[in-house]
Amino acid sequence: MDEMLSVVIVGAGPAGIAAAIYLQRGGFDPLLLEKGVPGGLLRHANNVENYPGFPRGISGTRLAELFVEHLWAMGGSVKNATVKCISRCEDGTFAVSTLDEEYRTKTVIIATGTRAKLVDIRGAQAVGDHRAFYDILELLDMTRPPEKILIYGGGDAAFDYGLNLDRRGYDVTILCRSRIKCLPLLRERAEHARIRAIEGHSITRVMDEGRLRVETDGMGPIETDRLLIACGREPRLDILASSLIALSSTGERTHAADMPGLYLAGDIVADRRRQAGIAIGSGLNAAMLAEQYLRK
Ligand SMILES: Cc1cc2nc3c(=O)[nH]c(=O)nc-3n(C[C@H](O)[C@H](O)[C@H](O)COP(=O)(O)OP(=O)(O)OC[C@H]3O[C@@H](n4cnc5c(N)ncnc54)[C@H](O)[C@@H]3O)c2cc1C
Repeated sequence: MDEMLSVVIVGAGPAGIAAAIYLQRGGFDPLLLEKGVPGGLLRHANNVENYPGFPRGISGTRLAELFVEHLWAMGGSVKNATVKCISRCEDGTFAVSTLDEEYRTKTVIIATGTRAKLVDIRGAQAVGDHRAFYDILELLDMTRPPEKILIYGGGDAAFDYGLNLDRRGYDVTILCRSRIKCLPLLRERAEHARIRAIEGHSITRVMDEGRLRVETDGMGPIETDRLLIACGREPRLDILASSLIALSSTGERTHAADMPGLYLAGDIVADRRRQAGIAIGSGLNAAMLAEQYLRK
């Protein structure tokens, strides 16, 4: 595409949508690109109880839908596209390449969130992605209650998934490699729901024997229908050209280099403080910086 755009936003999770609403209202007509269903990771959340304005809580999916409706109400839209690379051109503008098109833009907001950390479990690849999952929505698509689900992880996400699946009638066990680290409130609810939670054991191997046989260190095998892995998340920085990446003191790829016109927003920069409200604030901050830059 030859036209020079003002703003491209990559990722329509809470951060990207908040940035898009702000910029739409400011008259910039941002191009918001999303590879999946708009709403982002929030769609995975069982019950959001800490987002102001919903005193009785709201499902993550519904809250995400409301964000998208809000964007539409402002006249905004989401274009379905997977961004492959973002690079800086000699004139200081940016090239955003998707599978089918290349866009030129004066500013770009990257709000691509995080991806699940892959865990190296012997046999997991062989049992296939219809048995071992990293994504609860994919698991829900492919299974029916009352299947047995083993969740591997011990943080808030693992327990949120557990409560979500239990509510739908699945038979849930949570296995944590170390100490359980979730909110006490979630743990209490899991106990109340009679979700089994086991801590201090790692999975050493999985085998498909009609059902899944999950071998652990220091405990007998566990039989289950599916495995859902929730062992942390990491920022999705891979679409940034290497010249746009800053390196940490230990040489790890970290946040984007400080560069006028390029802004990162949401979970991608949130370290461990990953919450919808923080992502939204960060999206608004990026939008205001982009606005300032464009109005100069
Ligand atoms: C189980 C669970 C429960 C949670 N519960 C709560 C809660 O109760 N309260 C709360 O405040 N927060 C909660 N969160 C956290 C909240 O969901 C995140 O903090 C928030 O979604 C982050 O928003 P984001 O826009 O930064 O990223 P994301 O929501 O991850 O959105 C990123 C978007 O970018 C898209 N994308 C990625 N790469 C590309 C690409 N190359 N091209 C195009 N699009 C791309 C993705 O498809 C995605 O839609 C929960 C999270 C989980 C997993």
